Order: sequence, then structure tokens, then C-alpha cells
Amino acid sequence: MSVKVACHCGAFKHDLEITTDIPHEDTFCCCDSCRRRTGQLGLFPFPASASDSELVTKSSLKRYDTQPGTGNTVSSFYCGQCGSKVFIQTVGPDQEFKGGGWMLGCFDKMELNDKCLIDIHGFSFADETIDGGAAAFWTQVNGKPLKSYVGCEAEWKAPAEAGRDDSEYLNLHCRCGGFDVHVSRPNPELPLPKPCWWYLPPKTEAGIPQRYMASWCACKDCRGATGSCLPAHPWVQIPFVDIHTATSKDAPLLPAETKMTTKTDLPGCTRYESSKGIARYFCSTCGATVLYFDADRDFIGAWAVGLIDSKEGSLAPSWLFWWTGRDGHPNPPIHCKETGDAFWGKGIMSDFESGWIEWGKKVGQRT
Ligand SMILES: [Zn+2]
Ligand SMILES: [Zn+2]
Ligand SMILES: [Zn+2]
Ligand SMILES: [Zn+2]
Repeated sequence: MSVKVACHCGAFKHDLEITTDIPHEDTFCCCDSCRRRTGQLGLFPFPASASDSELVTKSSLKRYDTQPGTGNTVSSFYCGQCGSKVFIQTVGPDQEFKGGGWMLGCFDKMELNDKCLIDIHGFSFADETIDGGAAAFWTQVNGKPLKSYVGCEAEWKAPAEAGRDDSEYLNLHCRCGGFDVHVSRPNPELPLPKPCWWYLPPKTEAGIPQRYMASWCACKDCRGATGSCLPAHPWVQIPFVDIHTATSKDAPLLPAETKMTTKTDLPGCTRYESSKGIARYFCSTCGATVLYFDADRDFIGAWAVGLIDSKEGSLAPSWLFWWTGRDGHPNPPIHCKETGDAFWGKGIMSDFESGWIEWGKKVGQRT
């Protein structure tokens, strides 16, 4: 019994023999480190063996090491061409393998012999998200409630109203800091094309946009190019004119005269053209997913929400207006949900979506 593990561009391919019991029971890790190393809101690795670790260590995948202070080294492995996060492991001070796992988004399937590969229990380190992140809305799978934990053990409840931070700038950065920017409030003077439901956040009475639209994509390319372990990838639409360097909040990340194309390089990032007219960017050092760029909308990019570092929490509700669908609207709450159904299985994907719709109603982002 095996699954195929591959990055999006195919530079890394491996037939993984499944020898552990399935479904594998675990929680999504929502810690700051996992979010900022992926651009996602959580990480769920499928268990790996010491020989898997050996294989990955010898492969052409790029490696990013962190020392969490316990004497161990956590290494994240990603494809240097396409940015897929493929593998993560912990080794001890003497380089002994202590545990690791494969990223679910690189698998070709999630079921073997009619059994799902994973059994999701909930969310660990949910406290680090401040607002719960994915745990705030994804509350059950197939009737089983998902729990949130402080660290890995004690139960945690997100505060009813997460702290508000009215700061003028929103910080986005990856795990290593190689990509680090500040976002200003939306610029009212934009050449908005029509239709643009993805850039119709609430406006002030003067017609000035207040927040950036964020949404989830469950397509195969988003999953493969990121290695995403959640059923969909979160993106927020922010025009390039609103992105500033971390060192000077007055300095735009891209000089004003720059016309963004799929050939434009971004500081600290590697560019990958995942299909015609689409460029994806990831941190050249830690591999974090940074940007999805569509040449047809050359003034705006879709930025990975996991990079957000806000005191109000990982969903940053005063900055982000989350698309949770509208009754009768042609654009569903989760983009490409059918693709997600086919991969994750209807139970997982549909519970994710219905939790999302409920959350939208609860926080007033769906009317
Ligand atoms: Zn690749
Ligand atoms: Zn983590
Ligand atoms: Zn997508
Ligand atoms: Zn980085």
C-alpha cells in the first residue's frame, strides 16, 4: 500500500509505503513557527520513519533549520524550484532522528482501501494564534468535535472577542524574516477592473475601502505548490502599492515605476511559474509561501495569510474581510471546493466549509 508524494514541479517524487496504522491520529499544529514557515494556518505531518528522513536528507530538497532551544533541530524541507513544503523532522543533539512527517498536500490521495489516512483530533498550540485561527471556525469532522489545546495538552478556548490592534500597519513576515513587509490601509484610488468581487470589502461612507478581501482556495495547484495540510489555502488580496518594506514604512516594496509581471523578482523570494500567467513566490531561505500572482490582475497579489503577525490574531479581522460566500452569489465560500472534495473526502472538506459559513455569520462577515 503506497501513496505518491511529489512537489508541484515534480523535481521531488517518492512512492511512500504506508506501514503505520491508518488513520493516523493527530492535531494540526497552529504554532507561530509552523504558520510562518508555510504561509498556512496549520501543519499536519503524516508520520515518517528514520529511513524516510535519510531519503529526504539526501534528496535535492532545500532545508531550513531552526533550533527551538531544546537542543533539538527542527528541519523543514521544501522544493527549491516550486516551493512545495514536503517534509519536516526533528533531530536530537547527536543528529538522532526523533520524529518527522510528510506534508499532506504533496500526497496524490488521502484514502487507502476506503480508509482515510488521517484522523483529525483538533489543533495544538492554538493559543499562539490568539484568535484560534483555523480552530475558530473548523469545529468538527464527521460529527466528531475538534478540540483546541494550549501547547499540546490543556484545552484552550479562543477569547470571544480577540484583542484589537488599531495599528496603522499590518506586518507580514516569514519564519526566517527573509520576507518582511508592512501593509498600509487600502488605497482608495485603484484601477479596479470589473467584476471584482474579490476586492469589494466594506467601505466607509466616503467610499474608501477599509479592509482587504481574504479567501480560501482548494485547487490542486495551491495545494501542490504549497504542500498545504489544510483543506484549502488562505490568501489575502493586497495591491502592490499598499506593501511597504519593513525597514521604511514609506518605501514601497516595489518601486512605483515597476510593472509587475510573472518575470518580476521579489526581494528575498524565489519565483515559480505554476501555469501560464501565474507566478508563485516563496521565501528563498525558509521556503514559506508568500505570494500568488495572476498577470491579468497586475496591480494586486494574493498573499499568504499565515505570514500575518498581528496582535489581534491570525485571522486579523480589522484588516481582513473574509469571503464566506453569499446566498445566491456565484462565487462559493471556498474556491474550487469540488477539487478539495475529491482529494480530502467530502466529510473533511464539507465540515471545513460549513464551519466557515457559520463563522462568517457569527462574526458578521456573511450576511
Ligand atoms: Zn518542486
Ligand atoms: Zn508548529
Ligand atoms: Zn488555488
Ligand atoms: Zn523566510
